[in-house]
Amino acid sequence: MLKLQHIGKQFDGKTVLDDISFEIGTGEIMSLLGPSGSGKTTLLHLILGLTGADRGSIRFGDEDLTRVPMKKRGFNIVFQDYALFPNLNAYDNILYGLRNKKGRVNAAEVQEYIDFLELAPHLNKNIGELSGGQKQRVALARTLVTKPRLLLLDEPLSALDGVIKESIKQRLQSIAREFRLTTVIVTHDPEEALTMSDKILIINQGRIAQFGTPQDIIDRPADEFVEQFIIKQL
Ligand code: ATP
Repeated sequence: MLKLQHIGKQFDGKTVLDDISFEIGTGEIMSLLGPSGSGKTTLLHLILGLTGADRGSIRFGDEDLTRVPMKKRGFNIVFQDYALFPNLNAYDNILYGLRNKKGRVNAAEVQEYIDFLELAPHLNKNIGELSGGQKQRVALARTLVTKPRLLLLDEPLSALDGVIKESIKQRLQSIAREFRLTTVIVTHDPEEALTMSDKILIINQGRIAQFGTPQDIIDRPADEFVEQFIIKQL
C-alpha cells in the first residue's frame, strides 16, 4: 500500500503541488494524469525520494517514508529518456542496475526478467541498434532486476507508436500482476491512463482534480476540467 497525505511542494515560492492525498493497494497500477506543467513529474520524483516534500507524509505499508532518503526507500524508476548507456551493450546496461550489489548478482533471477521481457536475442546488441520498444524493455529490465517495492515510470509510452505501444502496455500490466508490483505511471494521455490503470489520479495546476478508477472517471467526471480533459479527448 502506498499512501500520500496532504503533500505540498513549492519551487521558488510558487506552489507546484497542493494538498495531494491518495492511497493505492499492492500490485495496483496508478496513472498520474494531467496537462503539461500540472506537477506530475514533481509528484513522481517526490514519491521516489529524489525531491523532498515541504508538507505531508508518504507511507508504504506500515513504514513512514517521509524522511527516508531515496536509496533506502527500495523504489526504482524508468526515466522518460530511458537513460541507457550507449557505450554498453543491452546486457551490461541491464546489469548496471545491480552495480551496488556486486558479488550478489543472482544470474537466474536476471535471466527470469530477460526471458519475461523477451530480450534474449538482443543482449549483445549496442543500444543504438535497438528499436524504441526494445530500449524501453532494456530500461525496464535494468530497473526490475533491482527488485523494487514500487515501480515508477515517467511517460513510458510517449516515444512509442502503434503495436509497440500496445505490447509495452500489456507487459506493464503483467509485471504488476505477476510480481505484485505496485506501479505509478506518469502520462499526459487520457486514453493510456484509462486503458492500463486500476486507479487514475488527475492533477491540474498542482491540485487533485479527481482520483478514482477509470470507470468512476468516465461515469462521473468530477468537474468541467475532467470532463474536457478526459472525455472530450477520447
Ligand atoms: P510535463 O508534462 O510538461 O512534463 P508535469 O506535469 O510533469 O509537466 P512538472 O514537471 O512536475 O509538471 O512541473 C510542474 C511545475 O513545477 C512547472 O511549472 C515547472 O516549471 C515547475 N518546476 C518543476 N521542477 C522545478 C524546479 N526544479 N525548479 C523550479 N520549478 C520547477
